[in-house]
This record gives sequence, structure tokens and C-alpha cells, in this order.
Amino acid sequence: MDSLPTHPHVAVSDLDPDNIGPSAGIGHLTPFLRLASMLAAPSNCCRVTMIIIRPTLSSAEANQISTFLSSHPHISPSEFHALPPEPSDPNTQDPFLLQYDAVSRSAHLLVHHLSNLSPPLSVVFSDLMLASGINTPLADLGVLNYTVITTSARFFSLIASLPHIRITKGESVAIPGVDPIQGEHVPPPMCNPDHVFTRILEINCRYLHKAKGVLLNSFDFFEPETISALQSGKVLPNLPPIFPVGPLTSFETKKGSTSISWLDNQPLSSVVFVSFGSRTSMSKDQIRELGEGLERSRMRFLWVIKTTVVDKEDKEELRELLGETFFEKIKERGLVVKQWVNQEEILAHSAIRGFLTHCGWNSVMEATQRGIPLLAWPLHGDQKVNAEVVEKAGLGVWERSWGWGGERLVKGEEIAVKIQEMMTSGKLMDSARRVGEQASKAWEIHGSSKKSFKTIIDMSRRYQES
Ligand code: UDP
Repeated sequence: MDSLPTHPHVAVSDLDPDNIGPSAGIGHLTPFLRLASMLAAPSNCCRVTMIIIRPTLSSAEANQISTFLSSHPHISPSEFHALPPEPSDPNTQDPFLLQYDAVSRSAHLLVHHLSNLSPPLSVVFSDLMLASGINTPLADLGVLNYTVITTSARFFSLIASLPHIRITKGESVAIPGVDPIQGEHVPPPMCNPDHVFTRILEINCRYLHKAKGVLLNSFDFFEPETISALQSGKVLPNLPPIFPVGPLTSFETKKGSTSISWLDNQPLSSVVFVSFGSRTSMSKDQIRELGEGLERSRMRFLWVIKTTVVDKEDKEELRELLGETFFEKIKERGLVVKQWVNQEEILAHSAIRGFLTHCGWNSVMEATQRGIPLLAWPLHGDQKVNAEVVEKAGLGVWERSWGWGGERLVKGEEIAVKIQEMMTSGKLMDSARRVGEQASKAWEIHGSSKKSFKTIIDMSRRYQES
């Protein structure tokens, strides 16, 4: 492979900051960084330009980008400045979603930016939210364009169907070839066609057929029926080829942090990791109940707290929030931090036994790679549909009665019971381990994700040569 003379010039175009719904931010950036790193690897020998869309809202995103670029000097960054967000929207205050909308509206300018890159591009990998603005012009320019999906195949089947279905509050959604999605698992904004969340998804999905292919960060074993229904045209007859290439491979970052040195001193397979991703905050009351739940569970834990949606605004003092007595009680067995941690490194640590997560799709994929059992606590956006996938695949347990984030105060005693269940179930541990083995297999030499990825690379090379 290395000896092939052609090096397709590939642009990886993230939507940053972004997202498909009220669970935005780094959740989209990370898969694009991983993809860029994979494409630029010596075995794939693509010349990669990473489109960095400015401005960034969170410090985490800005830091991730600069860490990535300094560890990948062979990838060229190209900055693109998006239009400013609309000053107000009657349906949402979510800064990430408003920014996402702004980037989506800037797509025509991005096409101009891409067409001026030198040498000319052969392939573009772009976020779903750019599809309506770039899929047709790039096809006309003769550039291969792949749309990258950063959520589960199951949630993708729902959003891809949006132009053809009407969602009614509380009613389950029937999608051909896919288990019905229960009404209470559909994100509430989707019941409002005028909500910016629904509007962006619906309009962009109308242009999916113009892409050369759709990349899914999932793998055959994890979502077999849905992936097969998408690939066979059952979900929608006019989707382009679907390539499941998950779990996307991680790239090397700086090692070492307080949380890791603390984990080094914990017994093997004894700690529950608690984190709700990059941009999900909980009410102070809910945080205190979660603290009580962790304390009552008697388990060791590493807990990452966020009290605001955008990290730069997070000024809360942990000791004031949880009280000195809490820290006294848990000092032998718990570590609470309010900072960015290296989640992948934590999940890979031998002291970790379970993960209490909101089911952001990157977190789910990272857990599959390690075969770590999950306690799903979906709070918004695609997370309940993702939690259905987690449960069905045997990776985790989910307490449905906890509802959407903020719907009700989940009490510490309820949380303690579920944490204990996740941390002590041998059956769950075994089935999660099986998922982990299959996630690795997907990337072995004849593995399903490896084959899909190779097809994309081969298509890009052939295209470059023609
Ligand atoms: N993450 C991390 N450290 C943190 C918080 C998050 O490394 O302190 C990473 C996590 O590993 C994942 C991503 O940020 O790759 C979060 O994406 P996900 O889709 O799980 O959730 P979102 O943040 O989009 O809600």
C-alpha cells in the first residue's frame, strides 16, 4: 500500500463547535480528529488538511485542536471563520446549538474555501450539518464527499427519516427494518419542526443522497440490525453506501494527570468512573444527590463534575457545592475533580470497573473499546436512543424512570442501587467484555470496520489516479 504513487489530498471538515442537538461541542470534534489521524497514518498515506472552524466556544475544544496539531505536524490546518450566530432564537438558548446553526449557514463560504485549497482536493469528509450547503457543489466540482455521522446508527436512522415522517409527542416512531423508537426516547425538540435542532437535521438529511458515502462511528456487532437495515436500503432507499468504521481509533496525547496517579493507587477493577461528557451540566441539587448516591454505594469512584454548559463559565467551588463533610466521608475512596481529564486514558486504566455516563456517543464507543460496563444516565439529545443500543448490546444497564435531565430529582438512594448493580454484576461484566472483544475484532485484518475503511481509502486512491 505504501508504495502506491498517489496520495489523495483529503480535507477533514469538522463542525466545531457543533452538534446534532442539545448535546454539542467536543462530541463532533473528536471523531473528526481521530479520522484525520487515521487517514494521515503512513499505511493510508493521504495528504490531510484539517479545516478548523472558528471561533471555538469551549476551552476544551481549543485545547484539543492545539494538542492535536502539535502531535500531528504532517496534517495542515486551514482556518475557516463561520458567520456569527443569530442573536436570538425563540426555541433555544443553547450556545452550541446556535453556533452549530451559524456554521451550517456558512457552508456556501466553506465550499469556496475548500475549492481554493492547493493542491486541489480529491476527497472531503464533512459533518452532517454541512450536507445541505456542500454536498451538491462538491459533487459538481467532482470532489468525493463523505458525510460523517457522530451518533449511533440507530439515532442516525431516526434523523435520516426526518424528511419523510412526522413525529408526534409521546408516540413511538416506526422506521422500516429498525426496532420502533419509543416516543419518550425521542428528544423533545424533535416534536417541534420549527426548533432549530429539528430544522437543521431535517434540511441536511435531504442532501445525504448527494454524498459519495456515509461514515458511521459504529460497528457491525454493536448495532447489527440497524446497520444492515441502513445498508440494504430498508430504512431509506436513496441513501448512499453506508460505511461503519467504528470505534474510530484514538490518537496519542499527552499522558499523566492527578486522576491517573490517584487511579494508580486503587485496587484492580474497583473504581466507578463518573462523567457526563464535555458539555452536560447538572443542577446543584442533582449533583448533591449524585454525591450521596456515590457515597451510599460504598464503591470507589472518580467523578468529573461540570456545573455549566460552557466550561469557561464554570466558577463553582467543589467544597462549597458538596460540603466539607462529604469530602471527609469519601476521602479514602473517592476523587472529585472539576477539570478536563483524559477520559480514554482513564477508561483504559486497570483500576476502572464501571462507567456512569450520559451516553454521549464518543463515550459509548470509548467504553466498547475497553469492554467497560456502563450505567447509562441519558440526559438529552440522542442519549436515550444511544442508551437503548448500549442496553441491547449488553454493554450496560439503564434506569428509564430517571427521565430526561432535569425532569425530576433522582435521589441518592436510587443512584446507589444502580451503581452497585453495575459494579457487582458478573453477567454484565462478561457481556461488556464480549463487546470489547468484538470492538477489537472489527479492526483486525478482516474485521468489518477495517474492511469499510479500506474500501474508502481504495476508492479515494482510484479516484486520484483516474
Ligand atoms: N472527554 C474527555 N475528558 C473530559 C470530558 C470529556 O476526554 O473531561 C471526552 C470523552 O472522552 C469523549 C468526548 O470528550 O471523547 C465527549 O463526547 P461524548 O460524545 O461522549 O459527549 P458530549 O461531550 O458530546 O456530550
